[in-house]
Amino acid sequence: MLNTFKQIMINQYFGKHFSLDYRVCMIFFFESYFISILSAITNTALNKGLPGIILQWSYILFCTIMIFVTPQIRRIILKPNLLFVTFFYIPFLYFQTAGYDGTALLFTLLGIFMLGIVFSGKTRIVIIGLNILDYLLCIIISYLYPQTVIPHSGPYAMLIDLIVAFILSSVGLSILTLYISRVFEDNRKVLAELSIRDALTGTYNRRFMTDFLHETLNTFKRTGNKFYVLMLDIDHFKKINDTYGHGFGDRVLLECARTIQRILRKGDVIARYGGEEFAIILSSDMPINAVDIAERIRHAISLLRFKHNITVTVSIGLAESKHDDTIETLMNRADKYMYYAKQAGRNKVSTSN
Ligand code: GH3
Ligand code: MG
Ligand code: MG
Repeated sequence: MLNTFKQIMINQYFGKHFSLDYRVCMIFFFESYFISILSAITNTALNKGLPGIILQWSYILFCTIMIFVTPQIRRIILKPNLLFVTFFYIPFLYFQTAGYDGTALLFTLLGIFMLGIVFSGKTRIVIIGLNILDYLLCIIISYLYPQTVIPHSGPYAMLIDLIVAFILSSVGLSILTLYISRVFEDNRKVLAELSIRDALTGTYNRRFMTDFLHETLNTFKRTGNKFYVLMLDIDHFKKINDTYGHGFGDRVLLECARTIQRILRKGDVIARYGGEEFAIILSSDMPINAVDIAERIRHAISLLRFKHNITVTVSIGLAESKHDDTIETLMNRADKYMYYAKQAGRNKVSTSN
């Protein structure tokens, strides 16, 4: 039962598949719904005038209908609803519940916060400015024409109103702030990950590889743990692209990357270094047979079968780290061996010995 409820909430209102403004608006929506029900009941009980009672119960009816419509319809209603609540409904509550002696102004902050999230650019500045003016106007009108304001029925009603409104508005603001900061945190993580990944193959990109090489080289110079750089280039890739199209070429790149990743172990790193070139770093505390790993990669790729039985091969240059290496000398050496592998007829692994 609880799980079904949770599932409905995620599918309909708060799932990550919805945009941030939609999700945040849903929190605001449920909060206004809740506030409306509370204040409609009290206003009806206190008999604060027919127009107000009709308006409030109509809004509750509207919110109830909105719960059952599709997210698409809700998305269309989102901005008009927010504008209605911030420009008309909260000011209306202001006059219904004691003006500046009451609590409606507490909810204005929540409304302004929402407007800032849902609108953007110049529209946002204009709408927030107008909204502030709207409330200022309410304050001035209620000062000049005190008869427009329905006062609290007594100090006790005032206290209850203040406590309830303070709790609701502060809890609403806290939930929204927590929620948004969590979304920002998630986004920051996603962005950080994207900034070091290659979009097509999902392997690391050249920027990450350079940083990683820098660290690995430093560790090697400190500890003496050797590591290896493999520079891998797909053979005659231009011909594959020209003959079968760029889309097919992309699929070959992706499949090659996946094949390499299946062979590598934890701690090894692969990056797309150029168009159809991958750089791989093999490092371990234990002695490793880098030639053997390079051969396994070369062999595994040569066994791949694409549509129409097309095959691809790769040439691999393998360089071992040396104490006087810089990133440049190491990469140049791996590149040089890769070039030798090409010269030796491609589909080869070439290294210093
Ligand atoms: P060699 O065996 O000497 O390496 O020949 P090659 O054809 O592989 O080498 P070349 O450097 O001439 O061609 C590389 C090609 O890789 C050219 C370019 O169109 C292609 N390429 C680079 N990036 C991408 C990409 O992201 N997707 C696809 N489909 N092709 C790419
Ligand atoms: Mg190349
Ligand atoms: Mg190539």
